[in-house]
Amino acid sequence: MRLLTLCMAVFCSLFVGRKTYAQKEQPALDFITAKVKVQPDFDTKSITGTVQYTFDVKEATATFFIDAQRMTIAQVLLDAAVVPFTYQDNKITITEPLAANTSHTIAISYKASPKKALYFVPDYMGRDQIWTQGQGKYSSNWLPSFDDMNEKVEFDLSVVYKKGYEVIANGALKETKVLNDSLQQWNYDMTHPMSSYLVAMAIGIYDKVEETSKNGIPLVNYIYPEDSLDYKFTYKHNKEIFDFLVDEIGVAFPWQNYKQVPVKDFLYAGMENTTATIFSDAFVVDSIAYKDRNYINVNAHELAHQWFGDLVTETEGTHHWLQEGFATYYALLAERKIFGEDYFLYKLYESAEQLTALSQSPQATSLLDPKANSLTFYQRGAWTLFALQKLIGKANFKITIHNYLQQHQFDNVSTADFFEIATEVSGVELTNFKQQWLENVSFPSQQALAILTEYDFIKKYLALAGERTQPLAGKWGALVKALEFPVNNYLGQEAVYQLAGDTSQEAIAIYDKAFETNNIFVRQAIASSMSTIPIALKEQYETLLQDPSYATIEPALYHLWANFAADRAKYLEETSSITGFSDNNVRILWLVLALSTPEYNQAKHSQYFKELTAYTSPDHHFSTRQNAFSYLESMNAFNDQALLHLVNGATHYNWRFRDACRKILDDLLKKETFKKKYVDLKEKLSQSELEYLRRKMEL
Ligand SMILES: [Zn+2]
Repeated sequence: MRLLTLCMAVFCSLFVGRKTYAQKEQPALDFITAKVKVQPDFDTKSITGTVQYTFDVKEATATFFIDAQRMTIAQVLLDAAVVPFTYQDNKITITEPLAANTSHTIAISYKASPKKALYFVPDYMGRDQIWTQGQGKYSSNWLPSFDDMNEKVEFDLSVVYKKGYEVIANGALKETKVLNDSLQQWNYDMTHPMSSYLVAMAIGIYDKVEETSKNGIPLVNYIYPEDSLDYKFTYKHNKEIFDFLVDEIGVAFPWQNYKQVPVKDFLYAGMENTTATIFSDAFVVDSIAYKDRNYINVNAHELAHQWFGDLVTETEGTHHWLQEGFATYYALLAERKIFGEDYFLYKLYESAEQLTALSQSPQATSLLDPKANSLTFYQRGAWTLFALQKLIGKANFKITIHNYLQQHQFDNVSTADFFEIATEVSGVELTNFKQQWLENVSFPSQQALAILTEYDFIKKYLALAGERTQPLAGKWGALVKALEFPVNNYLGQEAVYQLAGDTSQEAIAIYDKAFETNNIFVRQAIASSMSTIPIALKEQYETLLQDPSYATIEPALYHLWANFAADRAKYLEETSSITGFSDNNVRILWLVLALSTPEYNQAKHSQYFKELTAYTSPDHHFSTRQNAFSYLESMNAFNDQALLHLVNGATHYNWRFRDACRKILDDLLKKETFKKKYVDLKEKLSQSELEYLRRKMEL
């Protein structure tokens, strides 16, 4: 049965003709190809372009539309002739009788100044950076296209931009043409269709490194030239992840190539645009940041989406787990390959705990609720696949995945499509399984626990975690044992967290042992959880400042500075050249502490303050700015420059950062002094900043 299903699926995929795609609102039409030519303009944050679609009419129709938001439409040509159109409710509508079984072209010339989906962001050196984000934002903000994911089109993008820049878009770069002294055209070509939300481009100054996968797929990895030393840590295990996922999924990579581009102030961690993942440059890491905040998970997650999301796309939000749950699960499998089984199991344990807690809250939903939160779509989705694999067996699971992708390639899918195949392949009745894992609101914690406790590591971990409520005397031996060589990252951390900063003689003996493990994660747990440092541990604690982990150094520096006033200058001297993560966590803390230490380099304090304030500027990543803003607020030290940058932050497109800035701004505006300051500064605000501030105060 299994083999037969497999063969039939392969047979189908070889002989089936082109799939047709129907949008829910206009099932009579099928759009097939798109020739897009666009020219973004950085200075005016606008884009002009043309898009020509070919389409088939399946049933006679009198009218049809294309989605386009807030654009100026210059002209519409139907089969090369100018036609009238209406443009309202974000739709370009053409009213023209079209007979059944005919094919046509429609070409639209337009201009747009998108408020979202296309972003113009100066990079750290002040150079142009332009990139798109379709999912959740609608590509129809910059390209007349289809908001309905069920319409899949083969999009070929041509982009005109300044010479010297890299232009990355979906598909294969066919040619670059020099148009004149300053402009160049980049022609990209796709060979298969995709939903409009996956259409993408990124423009910036980049170096690129090409690898080739085991099966010959070009992998092109972009990096800012100034970050070239971080390349090997950012893209560590890149080819290994790619080759692993191709094997594990069991279906060849569906597209011509795979490109990855970091961008500044990205909205999410990463986005799986077909063949062209865009990711946050916060994941561009050095050898030290790699240990705590590497790109591995996001790399594998977005890559897995090239199959789950891009090749097979949900028909609607109800089935969102078919994208996020699958990408999360396969990323976890890739991480298991790199970081080992304990890592894999601990992540599953952690998410099971979070999902159990969510189950007991009013926010709990089933996995098939289109309004489910991301914990549900991602982690419960991944758990569902892990549990299914346990239930039907590895071989059946792999054949299910293979047949599902083969039968529905370049198509849209529902949960029923997937389970139909799983049931057929495995011969297992899955009604109960679906009820528990997908349909019930509560997460099946007992089943998850039963699966996890098949593993020795989890048994040991849970036994240790079971000691949490015990007094130290009752669990001393268990904690010591957890720190014995070779220490396990998670058991060791758990032992330290259970000490909870206890400074008794008995606890100090265990801390001694924890320091001596030399395990970076165990030591990190000490740095973050011990705020009162007993003299007996001072010397050991000071060695944390040399650990190769910015997540260790930041709290260690703060706690040492707070505990031992006499040694503040020494600690500052020792850490004066450390920047930290991409949010400058160590450097910004360092500046704040230096400014709060009168005896340390007093002559340089004004320089330190200048540097701290400069971190609030748009030249920096928003996480750096957010860090600087919060410290300035707690120091009550906003100067004119920081005040201006704060309003700029309050109008930023990234809502998390924007909201953080707005909250600080609201607090400042409670004081008359700051209101007066803003009145004096108003000439220096941009139009949109001024408009925002006028909603908050008289200006
Ligand atoms: Zn995802």
